[in-house]
Amino acid sequence: MSLPDLVVVGSGFFGLTIAERCASELDLKVLVLERRHHLGGNAYSEKEPTTGIEVHKYGAHLFHTSNERVWEYVNRFTSFTDYRHKVFGKYQGQVYSLPMNLGLINQFFGKAHTPAEARELIAEQSSEIATEDATNLEEKAISLIGRPLYEAFIKGYTGKQWQTDPTKLSADIITRLPVRYTYENGWFSDTHEGLPTDGYTAWLERMADHPNIEVRLETDFFAVADEYKGRVPIVYTGPVDEYFGHSEGRLSWRTVDLEASVEDVDDFQGTGVVNYNDADVPFTRIIEFQHFHPERARTHLPGKTVIVHEYSRFAEPDDEPYYPVNTAEDREKLLRYRDLAKAEPMVLFGGRLGTYKYLDMHMAIGSALSMFDNTLRPHFAEGAALRSGGVDA
Ligand code: FAD
Ligand code: UDP
Repeated sequence: MSLPDLVVVGSGFFGLTIAERCASELDLKVLVLERRHHLGGNAYSEKEPTTGIEVHKYGAHLFHTSNERVWEYVNRFTSFTDYRHKVFGKYQGQVYSLPMNLGLINQFFGKAHTPAEARELIAEQSSEIATEDATNLEEKAISLIGRPLYEAFIKGYTGKQWQTDPTKLSADIITRLPVRYTYENGWFSDTHEGLPTDGYTAWLERMADHPNIEVRLETDFFAVADEYKGRVPIVYTGPVDEYFGHSEGRLSWRTVDLEASVEDVDDFQGTGVVNYNDADVPFTRIIEFQHFHPERARTHLPGKTVIVHEYSRFAEPDDEPYYPVNTAEDREKLLRYRDLAKAEPMVLFGGRLGTYKYLDMHMAIGSALSMFDNTLRPHFAEGAALRSGGVDA
């Protein structure tokens, strides 16, 4: 059996971007190993069989980017709809439009403030703590938006999402909490936004559709590693701690239990995402997938809709790792794994699992394009040594 030029472990956006670039630009033969029964990593979606509604199997995925290079690249494989993401939040029996904006402030305080008046109100309410003095998530949030809004919209939701009291969470988790003093309620503020017209899986399949790319499904790299390790370059996008047999300890993750159901109504909640901000509601949010594609409204079965309740919890070893917890202990372990990764010959680590970083799709794709430019092209096209970028490539 002849060896490929490159082995890519994992067929998510990172792995497929690497495979596509190496096959198309450098004419390399690329073998992609994927342990799941489908390609695409966590962005994979499929039609719910009874209704025909596209469901994102590993949680709702909304594409957005301000990176022009990434935008140009992704448009080679799919067109995008003009969907603009909006999120609503339910608190004590009322529904508010997020992120925090003039509409939410006026509804919450029962007022009709102008932008200047609302700004003054929030400045006064947040003056209790100076942002630079905040030592935990709660103090940081109060210093940015004030206690009443924090207690309604952040405290309960964050407590459920992290199962930790916000006074025990790092202030770094909230780097910014945008408050808009207008009625603008788009969730993202990027230049480009939309959903792939034919769905995520069609997009991901087009990336892999090249005669030089072979995707081998239901194949765990560790079962076949001896055939390739040390013989061909490997781009590994699985969990970095798993690669090294957890020698430095397990990195901690949060997972989400996604409970999907088909409801016998035309429309369950009138929008794609409703957050449940009360602490005593056990789930964090409900997703209703049909609203991500209003342009497909008449193509699915009438009288039925698909919803998903999301419950967040600490990931056990067999759970899907979704959000890096990133405690001080995790960061220490990660530094040790980075040293091991740098010393690992002929293996590059990338993607969200390989770097233990929460990467949005555009970031995973952008980071793979950089690995191609900075490391793989120089190696294969110009004979440069395969410099291991470590897990931070
Ligand atoms: P992944 O997609 O995780 O792919 C890694 C692949 O490697 C997997 O298919 C896995 O099976 C495979 N693998 C691992 N180990 C092995 C092994 N030993 N052998 C073979 N195969 C292996 N991004 C956005 O931009 N917008 C969003 O709205 C958004 N929502 C998200 C919601 C949730 C709940 C989560 C968890 C993520 C979300 N993301 C979103 C992020 C998005 O999922 C990532 O950017 C994307 O998955 C990164 O791709 P990746 O290739 O790095 O990793
Ligand atoms: N958050 C919150 N209330 C909300 C929405 C978000 O407190 O209504 C906080 C919470 O700490 C959460 C973080 O903001 O963990 C990021 O939320 P987002 O919905 O942006 O992230 P996602 O879960 O979609 O990755």
